[in-house]
Amino acid sequence: MTTIRCDVLVIGAGAAGLMCALTAGQRGRIVQVIDHANKVGKKILMSGGGRCNFTNTGTTAANFISANPHFCKSALARYTPGDFIEMVERHGIAYHEKELGQLFCDISSKQIVRMLLDECAAAGVQIRTDCGVQDIERGADGFRVRTAQGLFHCASLVIATGGLSIPSMGASGFGYEVARRFGHEVLPTRAGLVPLTLSGKHQERFAELSGVALPVEARCNGQSFRNFMLLTHRGISGPAILQISSYWQPGDDLRLDLLPDHDAEHWLREMKRDRGASELRTVLSEVMPRRLAVRLCEQWLKDKPVRQLDERDLLAAANLLSDFPLVASGTEGYRTAEVTLGGVETRKVSSSTMESQLVPGLHFIGEVLDVTGWLGGYNFQWAWASGHAAGQVA
Ligand SMILES: Cc1cc2nc3c(=O)[nH]c(=O)nc-3n(C[C@H](O)[C@H](O)[C@H](O)COP(=O)(O)OP(=O)(O)OC[C@H]3O[C@@H](n4cnc5c(N)ncnc54)[C@H](O)[C@@H]3O)c2cc1C
Repeated sequence: MTTIRCDVLVIGAGAAGLMCALTAGQRGRIVQVIDHANKVGKKILMSGGGRCNFTNTGTTAANFISANPHFCKSALARYTPGDFIEMVERHGIAYHEKELGQLFCDISSKQIVRMLLDECAAAGVQIRTDCGVQDIERGADGFRVRTAQGLFHCASLVIATGGLSIPSMGASGFGYEVARRFGHEVLPTRAGLVPLTLSGKHQERFAELSGVALPVEARCNGQSFRNFMLLTHRGISGPAILQISSYWQPGDDLRLDLLPDHDAEHWLREMKRDRGASELRTVLSEVMPRRLAVRLCEQWLKDKPVRQLDERDLLAAANLLSDFPLVASGTEGYRTAEVTLGGVETRKVSSSTMESQLVPGLHFIGEVLDVTGWLGGYNFQWAWASGHAAGQVA
C-alpha cells in the first residue's frame, strides 16, 4: 500500500475542512484532504437555494446553540464575517444582502466552492475524493490513516466530517465515532433547522391549507423568532419554524403569534368599534391569508359579526391569535434538516485551536462539534472560523 506523508490530514472536504486546509497550506504545511464523497463541498453547492448564504454580518456567539455557549467566541472573534467577505471580494464574486445581514452569492454557490478550491490549489493542498477511511491509528510520531487510496501518515489529524443531516449528500456519523474512540464525549444529536410534522386531529385541523404562508412569531423554551411560516401537507415549515425547531423537542410547548404586527386584543376592540357589522372571518382575512382566517373561525373562534363578541369571546379570540398553541408531533428528521444539534462535547477541545485536550494533534472543526448556528449564514461562519482556527496551528 502506498504511504503518503503530510503534515496535516483533513478528513472531510466540506466548508470547514477546505478552510482549514487552505489556511494550513498558506503557512507552508503539506496538507492532504480526503473525502468519501465523489465531489467536494456538496452542502455548500446545495446551500441557500443554490446561492449559498455564506455568512451573516451580525454573527455573535448568541446565534449559536451549544452546551458550552462560550466555546465559539474565540474562533469567531479571530475569523470574522469581514475576513470571509474580503476573500469573496478578492475572487470577484458578486453578492447581496437578503435580510438581517444574510449574504448570498448573486449567481451561484459553485463560486464559493471554486474560490475555496483555487485557494487550496494556490496553497499546494492536495484533495482526494472517493476516499473512505478504513482505520486510524495513533503512534508516537503521529497518526496513520488507512484508506482505499493509501496509508496517510500525518502529524496533525483534522476531523471535519460534519453532522448527520442529508445522508444522501455524504453525511455520516464518522466524526462522532472517531471522537468516542479517542475518549471524547459525544452529546446526543438531533435534527435542527427542520420542518415540524403534525399528526392526528392537529394535522386534520390544518388539512387543505398546504401552501398558505404568513408572518408569525414562533416561541418555545424562552426563545422566539419572527419570520414567515409555511403550512405544508405534512406540517409546518418556513424560516420561523426552522429556527424554532432547533429549540423544540417532542412534548415542548410551542406557541405562535399569528398576528405579530398587531396587538390582537387592541385590534379586535378596534374592529368591534369600527367594523361591528362585519363577520370575524372577514376582518381576519384582511390581516392574514383568507383560507387560514376561515379555518380558524370554523375550528376555534366564534364566527359572528364582530360587534356580537362579548368580553369573554373577545379575550379568548385575542389569546388564540397571539398565543396559538401548536401541537407538533415530530420533525422531518435528518433527511431534510439543515443542521445537526449536539455532537462532540467542547469542554475537552481547545476553543482557540480546536485541538483535542485528550489527544495532541487531533482537531475537530465545523458541525461535528456541539456548536449549531441559527438559520441565516451562521453555520458557514462557524465552519470558516473553526476551520481557520485549526488551520493556523495544525
Ligand atoms: C440544504 C442545506 C442548506 C444549507 N444552507 C446553508 C446556508 O445557506 N448557510 C449556512 O450558513 N449554512 C447552511 N447549511 C448548513 C451548512 O451547510 C453546514 O453547517 C456546513 O456545511 C457544515 O460544514 P462542515 O464542513 O462541518 O460539514 P460539511 O460541509 O457537511 O462537510 C463534511 C464533509 O465530510 C465528508 N464526510 C462525511 N463523512 C465522511 C467520512 N466517513 N469519510 C470521509 N469524508 C466524510 C462529507 O462528504 C462532506 O464533504 C445548509 C445545510 C443544508 C443541508
